[in-house]
Amino acid sequence: GADRPKNVLVLMSDTGGGHRASAEAIRDAFSLEFGDEYRVFVKDLGKEHAGWPLNNMERTYKFLVKHVQLWKVAFHGTSPRWVHCLYLAALASFYAKEVEAGLMKYKPDIIISVHPLMQHIPLWVLKWQKLQKRVVFVTVITDLNTCHPTWFHDRVTRCYCPSEAVSKRALLKGLEPSQIRVFGLPIRPSFCLARLNKGDLRGELEMDLQLPAVLLMGGGEGMGPVKETAIALEEALFDASLRKPIGQIVVICGRNHFLHSTLQLIEWKVPVKIKGFVTHMEKWMGACDCIITKAGPGTIAEALIRGLPIILNDFIPGQEVGNIPYVVDNGAGVFSDNPKQTASLVARWFGPDREELKEFSQNALKLAQPNAVFDIVRDIHELVQQQGPMARIAYSLNSSFSYPI
Ligand code: UDP
Repeated sequence: GADRPKNVLVLMSDTGGGHRASAEAIRDAFSLEFGDEYRVFVKDLGKEHAGWPLNNMERTYKFLVKHVQLWKVAFHGTSPRWVHCLYLAALASFYAKEVEAGLMKYKPDIIISVHPLMQHIPLWVLKWQKLQKRVVFVTVITDLNTCHPTWFHDRVTRCYCPSEAVSKRALLKGLEPSQIRVFGLPIRPSFCLARLNKGDLRGELEMDLQLPAVLLMGGGEGMGPVKETAIALEEALFDASLRKPIGQIVVICGRNHFLHSTLQLIEWKVPVKIKGFVTHMEKWMGACDCIITKAGPGTIAEALIRGLPIILNDFIPGQEVGNIPYVVDNGAGVFSDNPKQTASLVARWFGPDREELKEFSQNALKLAQPNAVFDIVRDIHELVQQQGPMARIAYSLNSSFSYPI
């Protein structure tokens, strides 16, 4: 009985493109599947509500990934339970009140967390407010393999895991099999539903219509050895004896303006497209034959959907390391952090080793989970149905908090 729209609150923090991308994918899928039955609010809790340190999370994150050693310490340093309890206690005092304010403002029937640090405190607030039986709380994990332990909380209604490897970790952390579903990483519906023709796309994107194409990128921030690899590719994809290119290059720099302007100054001897942040990733991927990228979960999942063989050339220590065996062991790609080797592999794929390229492509398609985002929102819909006709939740919140941490 859909007597009133249900409110869905998606909790995220804009640390890297991945979390926001997943949150927006879920919002779009709700709207496509259920129209007005759900009202979805995507909230960047870190940015809009809390004080230090959460409003600095994005900046801290960018700083840490640039200083890899520090990030290693932060990632592993917060792993032991007692350490992250203290850390969470510090966070709690800054942001539980903001979670409470979010509850008051959006009166959610369903809360979806797509962030590793957004289970404990929201769940605690729900318990404090005696709402834990009435509000469906689910976690959507956005790491393909090696997850930070704060992703897992045994009081969630569901924990959506992108892979079997992650679901095994969830079991080890004490979640019940009934709480776990493995559907895949949620990717924007516009990406999943696109039925694209490579020839048409190349025309639209003003690319060469014949030459095989390699896509080179480094996540939303344009990280990794992008420039070195572009230059190595130019050499490898130019046949000096015939004096003509054997392939073309698309470089997507994301928000890395410096990289963008640096690459634009170069005169290339093979066809090259240099782009900043693009909004139609499905088109660029659909127009290319393979991809070189850092091991970001979003980019990997998208490349698999488009059937692109993947060369991983970089990773963020900690949460992205595990994405490498996920790709390599499943035969969807290789790891190579040497730009020259990367480039010569692409040249072989575009020449004598065309069959190998095809094989990687087929394995990529086998691993792809284009329906994940729809499976997730349908499952949430079922959970809501099981709760039966809900009376409007009374959000008369108690304002005096104390923490048991
Ligand atoms: N992306 C995009 N346009 C760009 C660069 C990146 O839409 O110009 C998207 C990309 O398609 C993916 C996300 O940003 O969905 C990057 O997520 P990923 O998990 O790969 O890496 P992150 O940037 O979060 O570290």
